[in-house]
Amino acid sequence: MTKFVLISDLTLSSNYRDFPLLDFLPCAPSRAIPGSVYRFLKGPGLPALPDGQAKFAPYAIRKLQASLLRKYEAKDIAVAHEDHLDQFIKDDTEIIGISTMDPLGIGPTTMSYYVLFGGDMRPWVREEWDVLINKVNALRRGKKAKLVVGGPGVWEFTVLPEELQKMGIDYVVQGEMDDVAPELFREITDNNIDEQIFYRGYMSYDEKFRKVIKKDEHYLARGLTISAYPRLEDIPLINAPSMKGMTEVMRGCGIGCDFCEVTLRPLRYYSPQSVAKEIAINTAAGQDNAWLHSDEIFAYKHGNLYEPNEEALTELMEAVMSVKGLKTANPTHGRISIPAGYPDLIKKLSTILKAGPSNWIGVQTGVETGSDKLAKMHMPNKTLPLKIGPDGSFAEIVWQGVYNETKYYWRPAFTIQVGQEGETVEDLWETISMINVLSNSYSEGRPFEFTITPLLNVPLGRIKSHSLNRNVLTVDQLAVYYASYRHLAKMAARDGFRNTNGNFFARAGTGSLISGGGLLMMKWIERVALKAGVDIEKVKRYSVDGRKEITNLAGAYKA
Ligand code: SF4
Repeated sequence: MTKFVLISDLTLSSNYRDFPLLDFLPCAPSRAIPGSVYRFLKGPGLPALPDGQAKFAPYAIRKLQASLLRKYEAKDIAVAHEDHLDQFIKDDTEIIGISTMDPLGIGPTTMSYYVLFGGDMRPWVREEWDVLINKVNALRRGKKAKLVVGGPGVWEFTVLPEELQKMGIDYVVQGEMDDVAPELFREITDNNIDEQIFYRGYMSYDEKFRKVIKKDEHYLARGLTISAYPRLEDIPLINAPSMKGMTEVMRGCGIGCDFCEVTLRPLRYYSPQSVAKEIAINTAAGQDNAWLHSDEIFAYKHGNLYEPNEEALTELMEAVMSVKGLKTANPTHGRISIPAGYPDLIKKLSTILKAGPSNWIGVQTGVETGSDKLAKMHMPNKTLPLKIGPDGSFAEIVWQGVYNETKYYWRPAFTIQVGQEGETVEDLWETISMINVLSNSYSEGRPFEFTITPLLNVPLGRIKSHSLNRNVLTVDQLAVYYASYRHLAKMAARDGFRNTNGNFFARAGTGSLISGGGLLMMKWIERVALKAGVDIEKVKRYSVDGRKEITNLAGAYKA
């Protein structure tokens, strides 16, 4: 008998042909990307074990499994492969647990497509979620199994609560539960929730990003008698392979950007030895790359004013790369000020990570704006230990960061936000200026390597009232989108073939779709922008013809 069946939302269990950024493909509208193209780019299904469990599972599911194993036997828990759910959901199943990131298709990246395509776009994330929920509900019909959903995407149900009932979800679990998962699952099974341990409600934020606690029977969060977050020593290490070789390096951040929930969580650092242990689980299963997850890798055991701790970072990366069978590794997130101000550290890390022309170190970076004013207003510590002003403008710090990253074979994937509080037309054009200058700059004779994804700050009220449409973006915000997608098309043409994996046909197919898709997307946005009144010639020329050139830099900018 399997008491607990665990699975993730289906978009999290594919490898997307291991192409950088293709993991965001499910955020795209299903009516713009045909099913055949979507399925091809998603890549072949991942293998199941002979008993029907998944060989690889998202990291969050593996953590939950490890936590439950502290109190339950292995036979009580199944991490089911999506094609074999029927083998596990039986009359005596107690809980079906699903981990999700964007169940309803209202996550930030998905929202950004809404405002370009308008209408009922049915993103692939939502399509896939509905397929899974329908399958799970058909299998549990007439049985006692409760449906419990957790993961970073659960906030979406607080915005659209009517979906809970429609989907038959019994509980939504919010927050980190690594230390108390066995207790939580037992209490749900027994229909006996101790409300001191598990608060029946959820935490949300008001428009000023202040915490708001809301009572709601459908939600379970950490209660008053336990600490607000698990201690590091109470978080178990995974004991089965994770998707994409994902391994957690630390939790929390503390930099204090005013739009970010992660900053509120306490900093907890895994030891290099613990990280290496988890990686060894993945290499034993044949994975030779490790994604080192953190929300801010350069904060790992940081010093005063968030000065990077060279010794700790070096020790960590050396421990990672010493794992037998591991060939490559990269951190998931890191801020740009460290490559800008500490090129020798980046050089050292590149040497350890064996970075080079055929091994670029991908890292996601929230740049968010090209405006000094907005950077100081919303993320005043983001450039620490550098300071906007004495160390250059925000855009200059970003430029220097990408210069050093390209030099040492790091490729950042930037996000840019439009719609931030206090944003003016001038701020938006400063962002366009930054994008254009970066897009036309060189380091060591190589064009700057970076991608840039524009995101829209969507007020939750608009999502609730279903009033999102193409007209949400102002002309100048749309100009930022256009500048970003012009650069993305350039990158897709340059790297579409270079970064593909697999056999000749898979590489040819993926490369063509990515470079062709990048161009098509840019042309689509160009049409939308033209129709909305964007002066696209101005966007193309802005800062490129020197009218708003960023100055005082290493002379590598080529207009
Ligand atoms: S640096 Fe990143 S993770 Fe840290 S608070 Fe800012 S946005 Fe959040």
